Amino acid sequence: MDQKAEALNRFRAAEEKSKAIAYATSILFWDASTGAPKSGAEARSRSIGTLSGFEYEMLVNDQMKQDLELLSEQLDTLEEIDRRRVINVKKAYDRLMKIPQDEYERFSALTSKSATIWEEAKEASDFERFKPYLEEIVGYLQKFTEYWEVKGNPYDAFIDQYEEGMTAEKLDVFFGTLKEMLVPLIQKVNQKKDSIDDSFLRRHYPTQDQAKLSVDMLDRIGYDRARGMFKESVHPFTMGVDIDDVRLTTHYYENDLRSALLSSVHEGGHALYEQNIDRSLQGTSLATGASLGIHESQSRLFENNLFKSRSFLSFYYPKVKETFEAQLSDVDFESFYAGLNRSVPSLIRTEADELTYCLHIMVRYEIEVGLLNSTLRVEDLPQIWKEKMASYLGVVPENDAEGVLQDVHWSEGMFGYFPTYAIGSALAAQLEHALRKEVDVDACLSRGDFAPIKAWLGEKVHRFGALKTPEEVVLYATGEPLNPRYYGAYLTKKYSELYGLD
Ligand SMILES: [Zn+2]
Repeated sequence: MDQKAEALNRFRAAEEKSKAIAYATSILFWDASTGAPKSGAEARSRSIGTLSGFEYEMLVNDQMKQDLELLSEQLDTLEEIDRRRVINVKKAYDRLMKIPQDEYERFSALTSKSATIWEEAKEASDFERFKPYLEEIVGYLQKFTEYWEVKGNPYDAFIDQYEEGMTAEKLDVFFGTLKEMLVPLIQKVNQKKDSIDDSFLRRHYPTQDQAKLSVDMLDRIGYDRARGMFKESVHPFTMGVDIDDVRLTTHYYENDLRSALLSSVHEGGHALYEQNIDRSLQGTSLATGASLGIHESQSRLFENNLFKSRSFLSFYYPKVKETFEAQLSDVDFESFYAGLNRSVPSLIRTEADELTYCLHIMVRYEIEVGLLNSTLRVEDLPQIWKEKMASYLGVVPENDAEGVLQDVHWSEGMFGYFPTYAIGSALAAQLEHALRKEVDVDACLSRGDFAPIKAWLGEKVHRFGALKTPEEVVLYATGEPLNPRYYGAYLTKKYSELYGLD
């Protein structure tokens, strides 16, 4: 066997082993989230720690280093699937190797400590307590960009981990467009916020009936329950451990009809993606989404653009009403549609509605870019947060817990992650626009038929998994690069109609 073939065999074997370990840790996490006894938490987290160590050793060693170098020199001679796998691993490898090991370990220790401190600080609503940790984290991240020899905006090095090819320059245009289109719209909607009542959504809805609707919706959109599992957890999530084992969860609140149902449909959109990846990628590291943003576009398309549409709800509301006859006896279709889509600017990102959501992301994006470029100081964040919330959403937090301390991401050193949520929402609208050129979406939805939509997404997005880059997926599916104007136009149309704006 020649050197290249040997290197490729070793590379594939190492990837297979690391996948097996990742599989085991995923199942431990699933178990912990869906009913494992709390008393076993310490033993579980010790096991996860040990397994993660094995996974690291599997990929980070001298043999792997040599093999990656050799294979990277011969990329053109590799088959498409191997080529993409090698590119991805090499990129992650270089990134890690350029940071001195002791420094990386200190950073890991810092972020695990700071996540605990953040929790306490949030509990006490006291930013001062978290401040020194965040300052230190930002310092490390800035130093990392020096090791990586980042040219251009340091932010690019972080967003690229989650959304390959995305840059601060592109995001400035992206958010600039959304700001221009949405801030005036939100102001108009806000003036009429009391014209829609959604209090009926907070009547008593027993869990077992909500669960029936969630399962019904998952079946309807085409999630294959025989190749997955559906349970309840504190925070809803989807976990694709294999194309044939894609699990998801929701969370039920008996005084809220909206939350569990929308979460189920949202996670169902993620799960469809994972289940419909091409078989040729099964078992490889490419059997996953192209990026976080592309993944999120699938969940939001189902949750917002399709499920909450007038066409689908006109079909589905009678079924919801059959399940909750007593609770909804005085609620007609128009009231239900309006209530479910109501928009009210709020302080908390995770509770934000479809219209205001991406402005919450914009606040975080601008702060992250400012911190990494040293144009903002950590100590000024509570004030900056208030100013930005006031100018974009017209609401101001009274304390740090419902302001700058609300998200866990920064305490874990995760910068560049937030924009993927907004990219997902925007891409959902762009995909819907492209889908409508080929499929009569309203006709399908008004008879509750998702099959043609699922087939279109399968052909345009799902089957490629991570074989294509996110930019390639967007271009292939919609014929153009990511363009936030579709999202702005979709929201303007929907909310102008809903609130009777001109
Ligand atoms: Zn999601």
